[in-house]
Amino acid sequence: MMICCRKTAVQIFRRNICYVAARNFGLVGSDRFLEPVFPSINLSISRKMSSKIRGTKRLEGTDENVWNVYTKMAADFKAVNVGQGFPDFSPPDYVKEALANATAGDRHILNQYTRGHGHPRLVNAISKLFSPLMGRDIDPLNEVIVTTGAYGALFCSFQAFIEDGDEVIIIEPFYDCYKPMTLMAGGVPKYVSLRPKATDGQSSSADWVFDEKELRSAFNSKTKAIVVNNPHNPLGKLYTREELQMIADLCIEHDVLCISDEVYEWLQYDAKHVRIGSLPGMWDRTLTIGSAGKTFSVTGWKIGWAMGAPELIKHLVTVWQNSVFHCNTPAAEAVAIGIEKEMSRFDSPDCYFTSLPRELREKRDQVAKLLSEVGMKPILPNGGYFMLADISGIEADLSGEEGETRDGKFVKWMIRNKKLATIPVSAFYSASHKKMGENYIRFCFCKSDETLNSMADILKQW
Ligand code: PMP
Ligand code: GLN
Repeated sequence: MMICCRKTAVQIFRRNICYVAARNFGLVGSDRFLEPVFPSINLSISRKMSSKIRGTKRLEGTDENVWNVYTKMAADFKAVNVGQGFPDFSPPDYVKEALANATAGDRHILNQYTRGHGHPRLVNAISKLFSPLMGRDIDPLNEVIVTTGAYGALFCSFQAFIEDGDEVIIIEPFYDCYKPMTLMAGGVPKYVSLRPKATDGQSSSADWVFDEKELRSAFNSKTKAIVVNNPHNPLGKLYTREELQMIADLCIEHDVLCISDEVYEWLQYDAKHVRIGSLPGMWDRTLTIGSAGKTFSVTGWKIGWAMGAPELIKHLVTVWQNSVFHCNTPAAEAVAIGIEKEMSRFDSPDCYFTSLPRELREKRDQVAKLLSEVGMKPILPNGGYFMLADISGIEADLSGEEGETRDGKFVKWMIRNKKLATIPVSAFYSASHKKMGENYIRFCFCKSDETLNSMADILKQW
């Protein structure tokens, strides 16, 4: 029985790996490759599993995943994919070369394990880059951990600090993984909403604000942590210093940890990114999380990190060393080289941290104009690489589409009928608030001109 189950698990794992690889290498249209994968999994599991062998309680309510659903659908229908957030253009050449050299050069040791919770060259580079930005000397060995993407750092943060019954404040709409990560750690999510202020003319992510009273009343003696995502996914909001100070004051007053997800930190347009961990009294209670994937347009490398006081980071290290232990050395080396290079030209317009947002700003404006022309009202983001569009005025016959909310049905309809894939915004809301997102869909504008032009063609012929 055990052997049989293990075999099934290995097969499922292999098939899913095949799917992801297939998606990115353009093979997903092939029936032979994919069709048998998804339908067969549950059947074979339910036939072979005994009643004792089942998923843990920890997993309950965490099985749905928006990326799997809509990315697969986009691939199946060969849709222009402006849904999932990854750049479909090349990262800087020198970063790619640094990765190639790390494996092919004379330093064979770069193909082997490195320091478990952070390749020395990378933690040093992270500390040098962020020390001035955080207004303190960051100890590379005790105040930084390198993980498998920002996901790894987030997962370690929740596992390290959230206990059964602890409340975690999540500001919605929210990046979807915060909820399952809270639940898997035994925590209880408490939602505080960002709501749009009434505006005349073009609305922007800055118009979406939380109510101070609502935020304050979410804090109580059971509150262990608050998750702040700045710049924000999906809205593109950059929190103002005043908003962050309000959150910081409440964290200090109630002795609460702040998990600050700043993966889009360099992508700021008409506003300035403020790091909550740099506000007075916050370093000791903030985990600041970053991603090389977003920083260097290499989402597939999966290198991320967390920074914070040694008393915080040491617990993330414990989770990490007892789970994944290590991320891949060549990519860590290449990211270190990337950070070193960008630091050496930090004030130059060529610095990737400046040139990428400069290019994305143009793409943002191009997409906003296009959406306005077809009657989808864009919410202009101040940061990140996503834009929400209000689709309440767009007619579509959604009667044949499955789903609880209009946005989900609309995206499925659009993928099927218009061959254009986006992400429904209700996916970024808690179960009881999904209606708040149903008038919006999320576009990713971090795409090549070719992809954006294909999207423009579809929208113009709508
Ligand atoms: N946080 C946010 C807000 C994200 O959008 C993403 C997706 N890139 C992540 C975390 C995960 O980042 P990574 O790919 O580095 O794991
Ligand atoms: N962060 C990416 C987004 O928001 C998706 C990452 C994923 O596929 N899990 O689109």
